[in-house]
Amino acid sequence: MIKSTPQNSAPKKGIEVICGSMFSGKTKLLIEKIKHFKDNNYRVMVFKPEIDIRYGNKKIVSHDNKEISAIPIKNSQDIITTSKSSNIIAIDEAQFFDEDIIKVCKSLSKEKLIIIAGLDMDFLGDGFGPMPSLINIANKITRLHAICDICSGKAYHTYRKSSDNNQILLGEKENYLALCKKCFNKNMTRNV
Ligand code: ZN
Repeated sequence: MIKSTPQNSAPKKGIEVICGSMFSGKTKLLIEKIKHFKDNNYRVMVFKPEIDIRYGNKKIVSHDNKEISAIPIKNSQDIITTSKSSNIIAIDEAQFFDEDIIKVCKSLSKEKLIIIAGLDMDFLGDGFGPMPSLINIANKITRLHAICDICSGKAYHTYRKSSDNNQILLGEKENYLALCKKCFNKNMTRNV
């Protein structure tokens, strides 16, 4: 967790990544951090990929129904032009952005704090979009886990219940489970 920042002190810089499986509380933690910085008078701008319209277009919502307004972005370059007046940039569902987001975050982090939340692994257990690279360049990484839907262990994997093979399939509990490594591997073998 970021220590509480006194009012009027110089803004932090760098890249912070919050990653983990679905249902691990990434968006919840992101929203808490955004609220904390806003309360301390930082100018925070929140972005999300245009593709993620599960909860309406102009906000991000956590699984415990906390929400905050966000700007939907199609190309990651648009973050640079849109965020000029901010000290802190928050990005949710970063796995859905194009690879350019790595350069964008690197460049913006010289002046601002960038807090990125996203799935580090896709439903096959492989790196998801730009997330592995963002984790590599991060100054701080928080890896969250959910509770395994089968054995109640620590779940770092997102398991897809359907046989849809597209990397991107938006959904919630009807499509996905959070599983620990052991249960994930067991179920993946069963499906091959
Ligand atoms: Zn398990």
